[in-house]
Amino acid sequence: MNADLIIFNGCVRTMDPNAPVAEAVAMTDGKIIAVGTNDDVRSSTANATRQIDANGRSVLPGFIDSHVHLFQGSAELDFLPVGGLTDLDALRPLVDAYVADRPDEPLILGVGAFYGLFEGVESAPRIALDNLMKDRPFALLAADLHTVWANTKTLEMAGLLHGAYMPEGSTVVMGDDGLATGLLLETGAFGPALALSRTGGRDMLGYVTGADPDPAATSAEREADKALLLKGIAHVASHGITTLHNMDGNFYQLELLSELEAEGRLNLRIQIPFHLKNFDSLDRLEEAAEMHRRYTGDKVWSGRVKMFIDGVLESRTALKSRAYPDDPHNHGEAVFDAEHFNAACVRADALGLQISVHAVGDLAVTRVLDGYELAVKTNGTRDARHRVEHLEIITDADLERMKALNVVASMQPRHAVFGGFFDPPAPNTIFFEDECARAYAWARVRQSGIPLAFSTDWPVVPVDVMANIQSAVAPMALGSDWPDQSQTLQDTLTSYTATNAWMAFKEDHHGTLRPGLAADLVILDGDVEAQDLQGMAKLPIAMTICDGEISYDAGTL
Ligand SMILES: [Zn+2]
Repeated sequence: MNADLIIFNGCVRTMDPNAPVAEAVAMTDGKIIAVGTNDDVRSSTANATRQIDANGRSVLPGFIDSHVHLFQGSAELDFLPVGGLTDLDALRPLVDAYVADRPDEPLILGVGAFYGLFEGVESAPRIALDNLMKDRPFALLAADLHTVWANTKTLEMAGLLHGAYMPEGSTVVMGDDGLATGLLLETGAFGPALALSRTGGRDMLGYVTGADPDPAATSAEREADKALLLKGIAHVASHGITTLHNMDGNFYQLELLSELEAEGRLNLRIQIPFHLKNFDSLDRLEEAAEMHRRYTGDKVWSGRVKMFIDGVLESRTALKSRAYPDDPHNHGEAVFDAEHFNAACVRADALGLQISVHAVGDLAVTRVLDGYELAVKTNGTRDARHRVEHLEIITDADLERMKALNVVASMQPRHAVFGGFFDPPAPNTIFFEDECARAYAWARVRQSGIPLAFSTDWPVVPVDVMANIQSAVAPMALGSDWPDQSQTLQDTLTSYTATNAWMAFKEDHHGTLRPGLAADLVILDGDVEAQDLQGMAKLPIAMTICDGEISYDAGTL
């Protein structure tokens, strides 16, 4: 068979244990047709074959980011980036510059905000933000997407200033003056504030409620949203990514992405889950089954249920077995009560759906495993590949249960306190000293024989794969409380390719470089194995190929 594209002279790492190393890859019609030596592959050359000389660069399966929020990540590309700042005064020039040419921006939204911005701030957050921007709605969305800080105007317009009825797990924090302080914890509380934004909050709906726009989006809004998604997808492709597992979802996103696929405009594969909220009746799982039946495309598919069982450590909402050192009566919040959650797991599993649950604290992880265990007891064992997302603290007993239940660990190297992105918390604030050894325990998870998948949770951290690889292979040394969790390069690359594909039941479709599989590849602009571990983040992406089509080209080949 003749190839339409050949990459030769590469350091090809196939991630296929049966034939791990090669020099060249040939592909045609979106499929790999040969992997081997330059000579092996040249036999499929014809006149029309495009040939790319990799000149010793690394050629890998396209990266798979197995935990992202594409719609929000895309939207954030156009909002005001404030990540990394820990001083509100430093925001002033950024806000002034941002609003100067945006007189009609309905909500000035700073994104990627660090919790440190409000440390040591005496006044209520809304007052502190009023000092920066009083006459227009202004809010900051935390990098982790679990908290919003809003000024008074935003609270007024969102109907939150005098408090509001909230679902379990969400809080509009009220001040002694009887007014909201501006601190909005979790989606139920900040959804109404973000709905004021330029996107009408449509980018957040799959996350906040899992419902579709109501009233339905106009055709102009749909086109604007598709353009936004394409912008995000181009950004993702520039980081070598060919597949995403989205972690929020609704029919609306599936419709937009399927339309792009049908129009031949989608250069990416993406799974969109059904998002079940704690206030939903379990009958809504029929919608998840409907998504699974209806969306089975080569590039766009469903089949998974996403839930949140707790919050995050930074806002002290992650559910822990022990209280927080600096907040001795607070164990965090169980978003779902155990009975409701267990019943949801049993029902979703019985429908043949995969489940992935956000669980940060160790008690949250225990609760998730309780649900998965009950599903096995009730429905019998099957190859379910249910996932736990984040597991930032885990007990030894639960490591064993995860292994026994065949549950997958989905972790984010750059979220760790030693990941080099977020500032490490002060000692004895979030973690007791003896909890550090059980926190972000990638090495222990892998040693326990649990399948380990890596991702970013973009836009929580940038969707930059190489920076995450650096966090995994060369984490910061934070002292003896924090055992070394560093990963080998090979394991890390596997966790970004083959494991992620397997986790989505796609191991026979993509994730390794083998004849017959999808032609999804990334060419790095150098040899990853020769790269200094501390300098991994600096290794650029030269080219990304999805379905045999070039989805990103740095122009360096
Ligand atoms: Zn997430």
